[in-house]
Amino acid sequence: MLNSADSTGKGSYRFCPMCGLDNRNGRDSVYSQAGWIIKKCTRCSFVYLENPPLYEELQKTFAWEETSHHVSEEKKREFWFRRAIRRVERYKDNLLKRDKVIALINLYFDIGPVIDIGCGGGEVMARMNHQYRPYGIEISKYLAQKAQSVAEARGGRVICDNAPAGLTNFERNFFTGAIMSAFLEHEAAPCEALTMSREVLRPGGYLIVKVPNYACINRVIMGRKWCGFRYPDHVSYWTPKTLRKALADTGFEIVQFNIWDRFPTSDNMWLVCRKPTGTATFLNPVKDVAVSDSRAQ
Ligand SMILES: [Zn+2]
Repeated sequence: MLNSADSTGKGSYRFCPMCGLDNRNGRDSVYSQAGWIIKKCTRCSFVYLENPPLYEELQKTFAWEETSHHVSEEKKREFWFRRAIRRVERYKDNLLKRDKVIALINLYFDIGPVIDIGCGGGEVMARMNHQYRPYGIEISKYLAQKAQSVAEARGGRVICDNAPAGLTNFERNFFTGAIMSAFLEHEAAPCEALTMSREVLRPGGYLIVKVPNYACINRVIMGRKWCGFRYPDHVSYWTPKTLRKALADTGFEIVQFNIWDRFPTSDNMWLVCRKPTGTATFLNPVKDVAVSDSRAQ
């Protein structure tokens, strides 16, 4: 899927992660920057970074905790209309939902083991109801260690790895719910990560996804200054259409994706989907244990 460094010498080279088309002869998007090449697939319209860093590079050089301070600096320089939209968004959040990921977890997830894929330092785990046993996967060593202390205290654990590899540590049909909050835009192999997530979910188990919405108004207005562009941290740029397609293609049923979940003034969108009940070993008892002996580092 990921080949060696591309002609710019940066990152790797990959085909469209959605449909597999080789877009190397296609036009670079105007949003390409500093050798990081963004392409819009000529077949399926998926927008993606063509030369993402390899997982190993991500782990060392581009770990989120090292790049996040640049984002804070950029926020200080934002335009007045961006600030106005942010105020509208804050008002809407206050009006509608307080802590949306926790509200969705409580609404959809059955009690039991749940997994936060791309769990960062365990911030979501720490806010979860104690009836849930939190597990996590995190590529950054530093953040995985932080999250491990939260998970361990509640009987779960955190694997320090990329998502497709990390998910192989768990039994099929193990989790009652999975979370991908601010994860899927970082994942170079999104369909593999989604397929693997489906495998470890129990039939009827839910997946909550939060990603930046490339189709939002701010991206159209702000262009290359849109806060959703992060080079090279963000490797996939999702729209409501491509997100729906990826989930359908990987065998999920969409449960919740209403206008408030993908409001055009919001930079992010939320979606809840489910592993269908009729497709897997539903009658098999699920052993409520993690299977790998390897420990998070
Ligand atoms: Zn494509």
